[in-house]
Amino acid sequence: MKHSFVCGNPALDFAATVRSRLETPLEMFSSPESLNSWFRESGIVDGDTNCEPADLEQALVIREAIYSLVHAKVAGDGYDGDALSIVNDTARTPPVTPQLTPNGRVTEATPMEALSTVARHAIEVLSGSDAPLLKECANHECTRVYIDRSRGARREWCAMDPCGNKMKAAAYRARKREDKLASATAK
Ligand SMILES: [Zn+2]
Repeated sequence: MKHSFVCGNPALDFAATVRSRLETPLEMFSSPESLNSWFRESGIVDGDTNCEPADLEQALVIREAIYSLVHAKVAGDGYDGDALSIVNDTARTPPVTPQLTPNGRVTEATPMEALSTVARHAIEVLSGSDAPLLKECANHECTRVYIDRSRGARREWCAMDPCGNKMKAAAYRARKREDKLASATAK
């Protein structure tokens, strides 16, 4: 798999396809093919959505709108009006529709249908029962927002690999430094 799905909702994973937004942003949608593979790997479609460069451009606009809303929600800020319109307009268009076949089910879609489904997930996660559980990863470099369904809402990072491991290693190093300092001043 090329993309990660650790946030607990496809719209959150979609927003997280710019990694490390604050430090050195890394764009996961570098080509129409990478958007194609995201739609497939997310399980939103079975086959190929045949994304063109124009679809990618549109996807990036919708993704940034979703991120803006998600970030505002976590920060306790109001929604940006443009972002709200973009996500709502996208959700208003027809979504991905599964089709029953003699052997099971097939889910094919155009890029726009797939984006509509992502936008609907965004609306659901921002206004549904998971909304109070949204959290930004404690690894400052990460910038992923995830749903914390852990008991007592004590999860601190999006995933153990790499963020949890990184944070634990950093905490360990900080403790070591303090120990060293303490023993140096004790002498
Ligand atoms: Zn993280």
